[in-house]
Amino acid sequence: MSQLRHVGEKRTAALTSLGIESVFDLLTIYPRRFIDRTKRVDLSDLTVGEEAAVFGEVRKVSSRRTKQGKVMVEVTVSDDGGSIKVVFFNQAWRERQLAAGVQALFFAKVTEYMGQRQMTNPVVDVIVGPSGEERDVSRIGRVVPIYPASGKAGLTSWEIGGFIDESLRRAGPLLDPLPKSVRDELGLVERTQSYWGIHLPNEIEDVAPARRRLAFDEFLRLQLLLALRRRRLEESSAGIRHPFALDDLDVEPGSLSSPSSSLVRRFLAGHRFALTGAQRRVLEEIARDMTSALPMHRLLQGDVGSGKTIVALTALLAAIDGGRQGALLAPTEVLAEQHLASLRSDLQGLTKSDPSVLGGERPLSIQLLTGRVKSRERQLVLDGLRNGSVDVVVGTHALLTDDVRFKALGAIVIDEQHRFGVEQRAALRAKGRGDDGSGRDPDLLVMTATPIPRTAAMVVFGDLDMTVITELPPGRIAVDTHWARAPLDGEVAWARVRQEVASGHRAFVVCPLVEGSERVQATSVTEEAQRLAAAELTGLRIGVLHGQMRTADKETVMADFRAGRLDVLVATTVIEVGVDVPEATVMVIEDADRFGIAQLHQLRGRVGRGSDRSWCYLLSESDSPEADIRLSALERSTDGFELADVDLELRGEGTILGARQKGRSDLKLARLTSDRNLVTQAREAAEHIVGADPALADHPLLADELRIFIDDDEAAFLFKS
Ligand code: ADP
Ligand code: MG
Repeated sequence: MSQLRHVGEKRTAALTSLGIESVFDLLTIYPRRFIDRTKRVDLSDLTVGEEAAVFGEVRKVSSRRTKQGKVMVEVTVSDDGGSIKVVFFNQAWRERQLAAGVQALFFAKVTEYMGQRQMTNPVVDVIVGPSGEERDVSRIGRVVPIYPASGKAGLTSWEIGGFIDESLRRAGPLLDPLPKSVRDELGLVERTQSYWGIHLPNEIEDVAPARRRLAFDEFLRLQLLLALRRRRLEESSAGIRHPFALDDLDVEPGSLSSPSSSLVRRFLAGHRFALTGAQRRVLEEIARDMTSALPMHRLLQGDVGSGKTIVALTALLAAIDGGRQGALLAPTEVLAEQHLASLRSDLQGLTKSDPSVLGGERPLSIQLLTGRVKSRERQLVLDGLRNGSVDVVVGTHALLTDDVRFKALGAIVIDEQHRFGVEQRAALRAKGRGDDGSGRDPDLLVMTATPIPRTAAMVVFGDLDMTVITELPPGRIAVDTHWARAPLDGEVAWARVRQEVASGHRAFVVCPLVEGSERVQATSVTEEAQRLAAAELTGLRIGVLHGQMRTADKETVMADFRAGRLDVLVATTVIEVGVDVPEATVMVIEDADRFGIAQLHQLRGRVGRGSDRSWCYLLSESDSPEADIRLSALERSTDGFELADVDLELRGEGTILGARQKGRSDLKLARLTSDRNLVTQAREAAEHIVGADPALADHPLLADELRIFIDDDEAAFLFKS
């Protein structure tokens, strides 16, 4: 870096503090926006109430103290078309920065004050300094890129642009790591053109193709890493060939099956319903994975209520059929407990042969391991896993600790909810190998609770193969969803609850999320239940359910609700997953704007599970634009994939990528929402490249670029041939 002309020790330090250590880092600081100098910004065109970026020259600057004692700097900015007043509070230094003659970009909402248009505390990018001469505007052509200036590091947009400019000019033509064939096929511009186009565009039209290429490169690097990782795992893996006969999937429910047939067959034969076509297709794929010598790494997506549970169970049973064990990992204790209960009831009556017991058969053993399972109980489960007397363990992070060891772990199901990272999946998978590494790699199935958009899945779960359950079980009627915006609308919701209960159905009331501990939340649920009992829902039998209750109490309440001894269940979001009561036909969600789209959709999935018409009321008087988008989307659509798109659009990729992206994030320009096609194209290109050149030996430039994003250990792992 210090080889650049204006970069001495001080600026090197400033750049380092921004995480910029190489020319590559520098070139990947991208402009926030561009000022097209060919189009004169007309200050007289500003609309009050809207955000705007205006470019103009400082005509006058003054400062004074307000009555409250704050320093107020007032600046008059003009262009040929008009002028605007810009004021700053508590930023005395602006008076020096914005001397008359300075040309700068001001970005803020335009307001009106005493009949004059004004900006208050805008973002400022100085483009041409007071003396003008060192800021040679001609150098940057007619389109000025504006970089995210850093006040902390003391670097202006202008300086950053200058470094980038110099680096590009000195570097000359850049080597392009992307094979020409791929570029041509996808219509991508060359590397050199892309960096020039985004940093030194001649005209604004240069920017878009440059951006597209650079965004593609970001996705490509990510997908290459994923493809290489998949490849290495495959090469180094010792998978298990589980017994899994496809014709077991075609058994009719209620048909007889001999005690000697597989657990999968006995389970499906004894189940309440037949598989849907989509479930069968998915299981066929899983069976193919599980019978192959390569371990399965599969993501199972399906909308709320699409029936992922039976798919997961069947996979676990196939592992037990092969004499191995299964593990189900859930993100929270409450969910783990719910999974345990439903597994136990679904697998009731199934036995496996065990020569060590009298009669040679014993019931399947399904056990819980969470932070709440302590001392002797915990030791029993640990022993059972080691000696093979426990067939399935359901648990939370507690499953990942070192003292959890299996006799023969065969299959893992992870109920995702976006909460487990790649490392945690790897940690659990490693348990199949045992202490001496001589074991086998278990098969892995990851399930998302609500769908995430396909392109986002390719990024977040890019190391997994993907399967989607595309159809809901037969007879589902879409839940009638209403956003109750006014208090009177709420009345309609409570009336519906009373009416449905009168006709023999049941209702959920979901309490608002409250800040604070689970205990606070529990109190608020209890109080709301009491309030409802005294007001809107007088005379109904009301139960409460929250995470603080003891397991036995929760089970009692759920059993009462299921059996119809309770009419209404007032609950926290603990009912979000797993609760399955077909007679429940109404859900009222209080303060619905506090919940995210995915969570609302998941909650709503608790009704509409039977063949009766169902309703969901979203109570919220919020008038925030975001609440409007979310709640209207739920009113409009019951399709989880569609809602996932809205959610992504709304929240941006940050939340989806979030904590998963360890280390340096490479997605600076690329957007999961607007660059969907690029994700798919990058994935295909990556697979193609790694397929032909498994350790990137023939693509050294690509390999070098990837090294920037990984540590040495990982590089050694990924590039070994
Ligand atoms: P999710 O994908 O949300 O986990 P579940 O596995 O809980 O969905 O299934 C939702 C509901 O649909 C449950 O009541 C389940 O019993 C029922 N179900 C699942 N598969 C079928 C099927 N093939 N036929 C009829 N009902 C089904
Ligand atoms: Mg489920």
